Amino acid sequence: MLDDERFDLSVCEKTILSQFGRESLSELSLSDKPRAVSALGALLGYLRETQKNGLERITRVELYKEEQFVHIDFNTRRNLELTEPMNSKNKEACLLAVLDKTKTAMGKRLIKSCIEKPLVSIAAITRRQNAVSELYDNIMLRSEIRDALKGVTDIQRSVTRMVYGTANARELRSMCAALKKLPEIKKCASQAKSSLLISVYENIDELEDICDLIDTNIVDEPPFSVREGGMIKEGCSSELDELRYIMNNGSSMLAGIEAREREKTGIPKLKIGYNRVFGYYIEVSNSYKELVPEDYIRKQTLVGGERYITQELKELEQRILGAKDRICELEYSILEKLRNTVAGALDRISRTASAIASLDVAASLAQAAYDYDYYCPVLTNSGVIKLQDSRHPVVERLLEDQSFVPNDVLLDKGDNRVAIITGPNMAGKSTFMRQVALIVLMAQIGSFVPAKYAEISVVDSIFTRIGASDDLSTGQSTFMVEMNEVAYILKNATADSLLILDEIGRGTSTFDGMSIARAVLEFAADKKTLGAKTLFATHYHELTVLENTVKGVKNYNIAAIKRGDDITFLRRIIPGAADESYGVEVAKLAGLPESVIARAKKILSELESKDTRPKKRVQKQEEQAQLSLVHEETEVEKRLRAVDINKLTPMEAMNILFELIKLSKV
Ligand code: ATP
Repeated sequence: MLDDERFDLSVCEKTILSQFGRESLSELSLSDKPRAVSALGALLGYLRETQKNGLERITRVELYKEEQFVHIDFNTRRNLELTEPMNSKNKEACLLAVLDKTKTAMGKRLIKSCIEKPLVSIAAITRRQNAVSELYDNIMLRSEIRDALKGVTDIQRSVTRMVYGTANARELRSMCAALKKLPEIKKCASQAKSSLLISVYENIDELEDICDLIDTNIVDEPPFSVREGGMIKEGCSSELDELRYIMNNGSSMLAGIEAREREKTGIPKLKIGYNRVFGYYIEVSNSYKELVPEDYIRKQTLVGGERYITQELKELEQRILGAKDRICELEYSILEKLRNTVAGALDRISRTASAIASLDVAASLAQAAYDYDYYCPVLTNSGVIKLQDSRHPVVERLLEDQSFVPNDVLLDKGDNRVAIITGPNMAGKSTFMRQVALIVLMAQIGSFVPAKYAEISVVDSIFTRIGASDDLSTGQSTFMVEMNEVAYILKNATADSLLILDEIGRGTSTFDGMSIARAVLEFAADKKTLGAKTLFATHYHELTVLENTVKGVKNYNIAAIKRGDDITFLRRIIPGAADESYGVEVAKLAGLPESVIARAKKILSELESKDTRPKKRVQKQEEQAQLSLVHEETEVEKRLRAVDINKLTPMEAMNILFELIKLSKV
């Protein structure tokens, strides 16, 4: 923990001003933010003490205002499977995987952060959306940009490693290759007309000087190690070239000495060798020992001969071996200088890297919109969320042998604030609710959305309470976890939030659960307490009476057709409440043994006949009023089903119509 004095305002102010080279805090828009000044000053002070280098990298201060972004808590991020799937091993089962068609690591990081931090300001969203729209419409430009971005390496990370002095020559080379692509990318961006893409164009610095510098100094395929030479091109340093000459010509110099000594001494088999202990030596076999000149210094006796060194040989050896060491040293220092020069361009490179990331993200969102037939949503502050034929962006990609059934949505600040969604298990309630949240979120990151039409009033936060799980790490039960989450939502949501509440209260006894669910729903719906747009899925059918008693509440159900024991899900959301849960039928679908299903049915009918809970009474009253597709087929439907429209004459059609009208009156 840092001492209090580290947060002292005047000390912190000095630290900040010296770090950013400014005269006053107002230049950094910090003059009226004493707490931010204390926090930043203390942080910078701490970094100065603990980090040896790299602080020069911190050149900008940006204010993060929470209200700029949609508030999405950890649970919601997880429940909506924004950047990673919750349970599935299939990495594709998340929103990021669907939208991420970026070509660079910089784009990949940015799209992830966009998904985690959707925007609130319509102006900011529209700026991004216009860029996406432009690239959606201009197919040629989109494909040129995506081609140009291919293979651009992570120059942002590389320059960081340059600053910290950890980049090797290979990294410099790959940075150079990326920089070589900048002119082409900039040329593409020059054709764009939307304001975000124009600023991308303006912010791309072609960095020609840096690229040339690397290109002229570093060889095309440098080694991994920075200490063993082989990195710097010929012609960069005369000293280096000379040393290399010595090193490369050492063997021919040795061969020259060998030939000369043979001739001088008359020893035909005299030869020069090398070992680690003595370095270079002259070896003479025993039969010529007498011919060895006096200036030869004996170093080693072998079975068949002797090894000698000479003054001349020692000197040459020092030059050859010294050259190697000196080359490594010299190359490293050239590399270091180069790294520092590149690090000096940190600002220019960072600005370029973030422009590239923005371009990559806009092109990626445009490509996803194009590939998956998305619609450019109309953004408003009207309080209305209206979707036609909307789809779940992830589920629709994962369905293999069936197509996704689209659904309409209407939420507003008046009569349609809260939608109670009932329907059989497995009908698609969770999918539908998540789909609405994801579409709103996609719209607020500037993306197109999976729908035929979308009008979206921006939300300030998205809260979800979905699924049940124990939190063993904190020793909380399933029900406790659920209640904590609900408490958090009700405390933090506003009238401009979107709430997704899935089966609140199911973790406890029926009556407790139902009472809690109802109280939560009333709290969410009531403008005096919250009045937030809420999707509320429940198996407590008793709650559907609230449509008549609480303003702003509407019932919906997800249609299914039951024939005998079998159930067919239609996946269509329609007005009105569902009449049953069909839990037993779904259990049958899941493959529970016949005997268990039969027994469950028996117990169910016994329970239902004895059940005196309000539910039954309520249902009785409501039965007539409720429209539900979950039912046995009517005579009219049976008759309709039997008709083959392609074989009817106009007269026959009229007759059938009369017949149907009659049947419907029975
Ligand atoms: P439960 O009440 O048991 O939690 P549920 O009603 O929430 O069930 P979901 O989990 O949303 O049901 O949906 C079950 C499955 O149905 C999904 O995994 C998906 O494969 C499929 N599904 C849901 N909605 C649709 C749709 N609109 N079109 C096609 N398939 C769908």
